[in-house]
Order: sequence, then C-alpha cells, then structure tokens
Amino acid sequence: MPDSLESQQPQDDTVFPPGVAFIDGRYTTMDQAKIPVLDWGFLRSDATYDVVHVWQGRFFRLDVHVERFLASVAALRMTLPVGRDELERILHSLVAKAGLQDAYVEMVCTRGHSPSFSRDPRQARNRFLAFAIPFGWIATEEQRARGLDVHVAPIPRIAPESVDPTVKNYHWLDLVMGLYSAYDAGRENVVLTDGAGNVTEGPGFNLFAVRDGKATTPGRGVLQGVTRRTALELLAELGIPAEAAPLSVEALKGADEVFLTSTAGGPMPITRLDGRPVGDGRPGPVTAKLTALYWDKHRDPAWTTDVDYALAG
Ligand code: PLP
Repeated sequence: MPDSLESQQPQDDTVFPPGVAFIDGRYTTMDQAKIPVLDWGFLRSDATYDVVHVWQGRFFRLDVHVERFLASVAALRMTLPVGRDELERILHSLVAKAGLQDAYVEMVCTRGHSPSFSRDPRQARNRFLAFAIPFGWIATEEQRARGLDVHVAPIPRIAPESVDPTVKNYHWLDLVMGLYSAYDAGRENVVLTDGAGNVTEGPGFNLFAVRDGKATTPGRGVLQGVTRRTALELLAELGIPAEAAPLSVEALKGADEVFLTSTAGGPMPITRLDGRPVGDGRPGPVTAKLTALYWDKHRDPAWTTDVDYALAG
C-alpha cells in the first residue's frame, strides 16, 4: 500500500481489511473510508451498488457488472458523478493500489444529500464511492467441500413490487433477520420465500435446484445475479438444460442437487435443507462440473480483464 495513504486504526480491537477505498475523489485506507451520517445512503438505505471480483490478477466479467451498476443507478434516478471510463479506471486503481491479486471490489452510488439538507431527493448530490478488499467467500473451505446446511425461512423477501430486487440494493433486514432464524435453528445460512410457496434468494446469493438432470433458478423476485447468469450460460455450454422459473419450497426440498451462486465464491453446494439431506447429501455432479468450468473461465481472456497494476502509483 502506498505510504501516501495514512492509516489510523481505531482504539478498539477492529482490524480493517488491507484494502483501498475511493471516496469523494480521494483514495484512502479502509478505516478512513467514511460518509457523512446525513447521507441518505446511510439514513434510508437509499443507495445502489455492485460487486465484481478479481481472481489471479483479472477482473471477472467487469463489463457485465459495470453495465448492471449503471442500469441500477439510472433506475433509481441517480446521476453517477463519474463516467464509465473513469469508473473503470478507479476500479483498476483500487486493486492496483491495494496490491491485491484476488479481490472483492465494490462500487456504490448513494443518494447523498441536498446542499441545504432539504427532503427532496431531486435536489440531492449523489455520491460515488468504491473499494477493493481481499476476496472473501460466502462459505468456508470446509462448507464448500461438504455443502452448506441452509434454512428455508418462512420470511418473505421484500416484495419486488415494493423494492425492485433487480436493482442491487441494501434492503437486507429480511435477509439479516432470516440469518438469525437460521442460526437459531442450528443452520448455516438462509433462503427466503416469496410468501406464496416459492423460494427466492439468500443474503448475497441466488439459488439453483437440479432435478432429473434439469436446473431451475427462481425467475422473479430476485437479483439477476451475474453468477446466476454465468451459471445459466455455462450450463448451456455443458448441455445441461436450465431455466429461470418459479421454484417451490417443495421442489427445492425434493431436488437431487441444490447450489447457490455468488460473486463471493461462484457456485457452491447446498447439501442439507433444514437439516435434511438434499439427494444423497453430497455435492452433486452438476454442481461439480459447473464449478470447474466457472473457475476455468477465470483464465479465459473472453471472460476476464487484466488488472492494470501500473495504476498503483
Ligand atoms: N442476491 C442478492 C440479494 C445479492 O446481494 C447477491 C450478491 O450480492 C446475489 C443475489 C448474487 O449476485 P452476483 O452473482 O451478481 O454476485
């Protein structure tokens, strides 16, 4: 990390990840990356964001993540204070300055606040920030090897008519309280329903079920995850039929294989639902084939962009 970035660790025992942030036009260490408390991104979860990862020095599907982010910003009627080229240059610079080969790179646009702190969102000056920290996984190595035990919570995900889940957002209280219900039940993670007997998604991931050789991922009420899209494309490449369609709790529990998909780790097996084995209770062959192909694509120039480490200075 460059000497010009001064780090001030807090007085408590918090150890911030060794990353770099860009906020209000400046690069800074993670412990110094702060927004005013009056930013509506904080006060009202009025923000959108995206996360792309870097694996072995290459961004994976940077163009797709940036396009989704720009679409989310537009859908929330925000104006990004940087253009697309500048945005991409900042993301490269963050990874380069942090000196990371494997990174979790988040870009955020908050509503900000109006110069006079009026209540009118049209007067707000939107804020852009981004950061790069070391790559992190949704599941531990041990969980990825044996598969997760996931709770299907009766809590419905926020209705898509209320908050559009295809606009990546921080409306996570349903997911967070779902996690508590999973932990209370002795499970490791959670998926929420839609209140009508179908499953939706979990905290940071989409869901797939495989039955009789065919994969299904919930079609609506979910973020259209980049990893979900990648999984659909790679399943097609593998000749495995897959569709986005309603997936009932019953169908999920009766599947031969279940896996989740996330930028924070790719496809990962779920081998127990509410403590009961899925299929034979072991990660299945479709999950294994898809996972191998997913990580292979991380070396393919058609799917990746080399980080410009010359921007470290
Ligand atoms: N669903 C939700 C609610 C998420 O927050 C995420 C990622 O953070 C996903 C699904 C998975 O999306 P992606 O594959 O783009 O990481």
